[in-house]
Parts: sequence; structure tokens; C-alpha cells
Amino acid sequence: MVSTTGDALPPSAPFGLKPDLMLTVAEARGRIIRTFSPLPTEQVPILDALGRVLAEDIVAGNDVPPFDNSAMDGYAVRAIDVATAREDSPVMLAILGELPAGVTTEQPVEPNTCYRILTGAPLPPRADSIVPYELTDGVAFGGWHGPEVAAEIASQRAVRIFRAVEPDDNVRHAGEDQRKDEVVLGRGVLIRPAEVTVLASLGRTSVGVVQRPKVAILSTGDEVIEIDQPLKAGLIRNSNSYALAALVRWYGGEAIMLGIAADTVESLRTHLLGGQRADMIITTGGVSMGDYDVVKNILAQEGSVSFWSIDMRPGKPVAFGTLDGVAFIGLPGNPVSTMVGFEILVRPAMLKLAGHSRLEKTAIRARAAHRISNRSGRENYMRVVVRQDGDEWVACLTGEQGSGIITSMHLANGLVVVPKNKTCIEKNELADVIMLDWPSMQ
Ligand code: AMP
Ligand code: MG
Repeated sequence: MVSTTGDALPPSAPFGLKPDLMLTVAEARGRIIRTFSPLPTEQVPILDALGRVLAEDIVAGNDVPPFDNSAMDGYAVRAIDVATAREDSPVMLAILGELPAGVTTEQPVEPNTCYRILTGAPLPPRADSIVPYELTDGVAFGGWHGPEVAAEIASQRAVRIFRAVEPDDNVRHAGEDQRKDEVVLGRGVLIRPAEVTVLASLGRTSVGVVQRPKVAILSTGDEVIEIDQPLKAGLIRNSNSYALAALVRWYGGEAIMLGIAADTVESLRTHLLGGQRADMIITTGGVSMGDYDVVKNILAQEGSVSFWSIDMRPGKPVAFGTLDGVAFIGLPGNPVSTMVGFEILVRPAMLKLAGHSRLEKTAIRARAAHRISNRSGRENYMRVVVRQDGDEWVACLTGEQGSGIITSMHLANGLVVVPKNKTCIEKNELADVIMLDWPSMQ
């Protein structure tokens, strides 16, 4: 049943939690992460598996490469026949024929004979090594041969070898990359371009992966309008839904846009209906202490609340709980709070749903380019740009740090973490920076 009561909660008695009970960022993140477990799996074409987590062991159905083959353009020989070859006393071998890639022969290399062979062609029987073309007086390899050169190649009956080779030289052995019946990729592996390549080399067209998390996104606020609507006095565009949908997609999820709810329980309830098929619902706005902050009311009255406040800046008011059995994270409305809240609290949960085992972003130690002060008394995630300076990383604030400064996220490639009890990071002091992106290396 839709509740229409309790638009505002007295600050003294929110959801049975003491108002002064604020979770640390680590506690809050831990609670959120623990709530989720990996989603079921599905079969997808290998290119659609990119960025996702493998849900099966991949066993090689054949050797890769499937046969012994030449790693060079040259001559397939028996090493024993050319053991004495030197620049000033070459060994002469009769040429039995030519083996381009894709051509096989049953006729073995006999003593003092060889095949002209091209890269990737299967080794002829009894050949054990390849003499590269450069160590012979053979007719030119590579490029386009005119009819005269082709005729010369065809007419060449013998070749001089100027250097000895060892058995196996320049030979790629069957199974040296992947061996038949062995597990080549284990479940849990992140599928990057290299893993797509392995799958393709084994002839896999589709593969089992963990499903993409579906994340429903709802913005709240009487002042918030769709981005294609004209601005009128007092109204702002709904950038948050796009921020969140972009983050969800960026990290491999599927965003379900639920639109904009007005600051009433009814409107919120109606808009949230679309979230029931999602793996998690994220809202923005309406989680502070104001009269119109109805998000936590709905959670408290119709769902359950795990916590509603984090000792963090930006993004102190964050409501976490469940609604209709779906995990619910209410982020504050200020755009930077929304984005930082997502990076720190939502992203790891989403990755866990998607089956990832590594949930944290890479953090580095960077030297502060200038004094960074933290008067918030909370764990402060400030926007910085990190650059390489010799052997070091150097972090510089992006400028104005207000939680409404959207461009501070655009300019940043990291978040410097200033601990709660630290009022400042001195110039040249080392600090922890969570990297959002990596700076280019030049
Ligand atoms: P609230 O957390 O609801 O008090 O919202 C705080 C502030 O965030 C509002 O005053 C707006 O300036 C901004 N805001 C809220 N919702 C959005 C949104 N969907 N897109 C952009 N800014 C928003
Ligand atoms: Mg609001």
C-alpha cells in the first residue's frame, strides 16, 4: 500500500538510529558490499563478454597452435645437415618445394634437402628447424613477386646456408601456447581484449559470464527538470540521472532511467515502481534533514533502513536499505556528492554483483603540490589532478571544491582522501589518492 504520511521526520528520531550515529566510510561501504552477491550467469557472444567476468572454466579443445609451424620465412631443414655451415663454407641443400602458410606436405625432408617455407606454414615431416632467409642466398622473400622473380624462385633447385641452427630454432610447437584439455581461463577472470582473443583462438563464439547489474536511477526534487526543457526561474537540469547512468554504464552495468520524482511520497512511490526489476535502486536528492527530503521516509516506512548518515564529505546524508526487496541507495542531490558517493559506495557493490573479485580502485601515494586543508571534520574526498613528476606522482586540487561544482569532476583524475582527524595535508606531504583515471604518461 502506498503511504502518504510522514513527509518529514523529526531529526531527533530517524528510523530508530541515534541521530549522532554516523558510520565511517569503511563501515558504510562494508555494509553495502556485504548485502550483495554475484548475479546469475548468462551465455553471450564473446565480444559482448568484454569487461565482464567469466563464469565457467575454459578448457582448450585443441592445441594452440594446432601444429608445429615456422616462425620465420626461410628454409625448413634438419639441423644436423647444416651443423657445419659457416659464412665462408656454406652448406648446399636441395629444395624439395615451397610451403606457403596453409599448405601441408607428406613428403619428408631427406638428408641434405629442405623446403622453402613461409611464416605460419606447417613444418614438413622430419624438419626440426628453420634457417631464416637472411642466412641463406635464397631468392627474396616477402612483398609482391613479379613473374620473373616467381620464375626464379620456381627454378631455384638449391640454396646455400651460411649459418648453423639448433633443433627447434624458429619453430613454433603445437600446444606451446595452449594445450588441449588444459584450463586456459579460469572462472572469475575479467574478460579483456586478450581474453576475447584466447576464446577466439579456441573457436569459442559464445561464453558464460555473470549478468550485468541492472541499476534503476531516480532523481528527486521539485526544482529538477528534464535536460531538454527550457530553464525557468529556480529550476535546474537533471544532470544527476545522466551522471549516474554514465557511471553505471562505464562500470559495466545497465541503467534503467526512472525519471524525476517530485518531493512527495506519492510521486516517489509511483516513480519507484519501475525499479522493482532492478538489482539496485539509486536515487539522488531528498536524503537530508529538510522538510522535503522524503526519500528516507519512504525507506523507513515501507522498507528497511540500514543507515542514513556517513562521516564523509561530500555526501554525508546517504540512505541505505531495501524497498520491496530491492537494495536501495539514496545519494544526496548535489552533483559532486552524487558522483563521489557512487564511486566510493555504489561502484564496489555493482562490481560485486557483476562477479568481480577486485572491488577497489587503484590508490596511489601522491605528493601534495600545495597545502590542502580539511575543515570538515569528516573523511574528505577532494578532487585532484595527478601528474607524474619524475619518479613521483604530484596531486593538485582542481580548484573550488563545493559539492555543486560539476566541472571539478571533469577536471579531476583522482580523489585525494583526507582522513577525518586531519585538518590539512601540508605542501609536499604524501597523501592517498584514489585514481579515477590515469594521466597520460607523456
Ligand atoms: P537535495 O539533496 O535534494 O537537498 O539536493 C541538493 C542540491 O542538489 C539541490 O539544491 C540541487 O541544486 C542539486 N540537485 C538535486 N537534484 C539534482 C539533479 N537531479 N541534478 C542536478 N542537481 C541536482
Ligand atoms: Mg531535493
